Amino acid sequence: MTREENVKLMTDKVAKFVAHIAKKLPDDVVAKLEELGSQEDAALPKVLYETMTKNQTLAVELDRPSCQDTGVLQFWVKCGTRFPLIDDLEALLKEAVVQATFAAPLRHNSVETFDEYNTKRNVGKGTPTIFWDIVPNSDKCELYAYMAGGGCTLPGKAMVLMPGAGYEGVTDFVLDQMTSYGLNACPPLLVGVGVATSVETAALLSKKALMRPIGSHNENANAAKMEKLLEDGINAIGLGPQGMGGKFSVMGVNIENTARHPSTIGVAVNVGCWSHRRGHVIFDSDLNATVDTHSTVDLNQ
Ligand code: SF4
Repeated sequence: MTREENVKLMTDKVAKFVAHIAKKLPDDVVAKLEELGSQEDAALPKVLYETMTKNQTLAVELDRPSCQDTGVLQFWVKCGTRFPLIDDLEALLKEAVVQATFAAPLRHNSVETFDEYNTKRNVGKGTPTIFWDIVPNSDKCELYAYMAGGGCTLPGKAMVLMPGAGYEGVTDFVLDQMTSYGLNACPPLLVGVGVATSVETAALLSKKALMRPIGSHNENANAAKMEKLLEDGINAIGLGPQGMGGKFSVMGVNIENTARHPSTIGVAVNVGCWSHRRGHVIFDSDLNATVDTHSTVDLNQ
């Protein structure tokens, strides 16, 4: 195949994947919503979880997005230096978003800042958002595709605490966000927490944390313990589905961290809503695609 044909092949596969994740939640989210719903006794949360399940069924039956806010597309790219289309990646991701916008269809969510017009194609200056991780000595390309909604994962919050604030300060910061911004973000939430050395490193990690599967844990035992403590603490607030009250507030808490300067604690929170539309696909150098988040799609057909 020529380079142009390969670019078209990958563009079509990414566009198909983006359109799919707009309609079908990843397997881990579906399983977690079922688990949480099955443990509610009160009538209102039970009905809300049933409505979420019905929403998923109807989205597939009617072939349309499961939430009206299909977000800004954000891609986390982990690309090998030897992946054959590395030079074409940014342009083809943009084109894939345009294709998916018309095929899915997706709501038009890209407004040019300062010029104040909607491009009506979901692409614009700097959108879709693309975060890059370059992987040496690899010929593969991993993509996390994420529909970042205006009420959930786009707002977020980050700050740098004084070192004396300690882990109690991190806890206070996270819990404060849950009773304000968290409530607005269609719970149950997947809470991403970044703990790092500055405001921007913490913010980026809080988004990266949302790419991790539900039920996974930070590899550091103390951080994993804090994930569990925060999960229990936020659940105890009792936000319930859609913030209407219930036994659970979250699908999980994922912390990502780096080392930090001794005089700073950077902390950030970023949440995914119950409609946590993120997908993960790995392309090999022949552009065969392996999706491990959705058993519902095969991009090679
Ligand atoms: S928070 Fe999530 S489910 Fe609620 S409107 Fe936004 S994207 Fe949709």
